[in-house]
Amino acid sequence: MIHRKSPNDLDRMAAAGAIVAETLGLLAESARPGMSTLDLDEIAERHIRAAGGVPTFKGYHGFPGSICASPNDMIVHGIPSDAVVLVEGDILSIDVGVTRQGFVGDSAVTIMIGEVPEATKALLRTCQASLAAAVEVSQVGGRVGDIGHAVQGVVEAAGFAVVRDLVGHGVGRSMHEDPQVRNYGDAGTGPELKTGMTLAIEPMITAGAYDIVVAEDGWSIFTTDQSLAAHFEHTVAITDDGPRVLTLAQGTSIVDAEI
Ligand code: MG
Ligand code: MG
Repeated sequence: MIHRKSPNDLDRMAAAGAIVAETLGLLAESARPGMSTLDLDEIAERHIRAAGGVPTFKGYHGFPGSICASPNDMIVHGIPSDAVVLVEGDILSIDVGVTRQGFVGDSAVTIMIGEVPEATKALLRTCQASLAAAVEVSQVGGRVGDIGHAVQGVVEAAGFAVVRDLVGHGVGRSMHEDPQVRNYGDAGTGPELKTGMTLAIEPMITAGAYDIVVAEDGWSIFTTDQSLAAHFEHTVAITDDGPRVLTLAQGTSIVDAEI
């Protein structure tokens, strides 16, 4: 069942989303070689709680972290750890969820640790551009399939692959609501997009094949061919005035991040 939100609900989701955006910004500024992903987790949790939010991921099906921190060929769901220390040239996908006033905001970015090769930057830029394209088609009267189709078009035109086995999702009072939002497929298919729907749109793409493998910890998901992966996500509301991105930092746009 798809839960549609009132304008008042959307404002509350935007308040949660603002904390998510601030946290991701803080982590992007803080991350540098020599830091562990557990260091980043601690920075995030402190900021989220100080801002009046609760880290949604912490304790979710037993997940121990406040963030997911997934380096290089890890696509998503990395457990923050003092054993994972960032080095120059890494990329790191950071996913943050915040609950505030009963609503969840969910957003992710892939950041660069120092200088990375141009081919890696192209992977990140493409993932971000595919998210922007997906947001653009998130219009009343469209279909959920339009979103995946938009992502796939951008990603495959650039020579990268879309992960098939992981999807975006409805989000609101719970982190995971209906519908599932695939990052590939046909336009004009799937549930109709209606005003008040709120979706976590999250392209996950790789520089190689799209096959995935779950690690022994039961959480971390890697590319099977060890190719690099990127992940960008925003929480987006479908409104009569067009898509409203609820997890943007004030005064920024989706493609602002310098890559
Ligand atoms: Mg997320
Ligand atoms: Mg999500």
